[in-house]
Amino acid sequence: MERKAVFPGSFDPFTIGHEIIVRRAIELFDHIIISIGINMEKSHLFPLEVRKKWIEELFADEPKISVKTYNMLTVDFCRQQGARFILRGLRTSADFEYERVIGQINRQLGEFKIETVYLLTLPEHTYISSTFVREVIKYKGDISKFVPQNIAQDIMQNWY
Ligand code: ADP
Repeated sequence: MERKAVFPGSFDPFTIGHEIIVRRAIELFDHIIISIGINMEKSHLFPLEVRKKWIEELFADEPKISVKTYNMLTVDFCRQQGARFILRGLRTSADFEYERVIGQINRQLGEFKIETVYLLTLPEHTYISSTFVREVIKYKGDISKFVPQNIAQDIMQNWY
């Protein structure tokens, strides 16, 4: 059976931290679906289709990766996609506490067996978050060290 994982998030925008988690996880799975949750309660800086397009461009040469959007419980989306794994990144102990609750809830929700796999972030990416990147963007700062090149270029050329 194919080892398929869903990597869920808002990715507003996708950062180098996210990118490296996905690239490391390619070794572990046959296919990874980077899945952008449509969360009506969160207001986003970048439109869904733009966030999706940036990630697709970034992994255009990587057949093991696809990008999708979803508007349901992550476990239900996993079942719909035939994915038995959820991939998440861990930066800090705060991430751990947050992820622990989500992971345990997902386990209770899914009668379909889904394992969440956590990868520790590289030390040099621990401080990178989409929230912090959005703050830099607000003041038109240089985001090229935090965001993949194609995304940084588009934002600094077309959104500033
Ligand atoms: P969410 O809206 O669920 O918080 P994010 O888009 O912020 O989604 O993040 C998605 C996943 O990527 C989460 O598992 C998060 O911990 C992980 N992540 C975020 N930033 C980094 C980083 N700098 N290094 C490694 N993992 C990260």
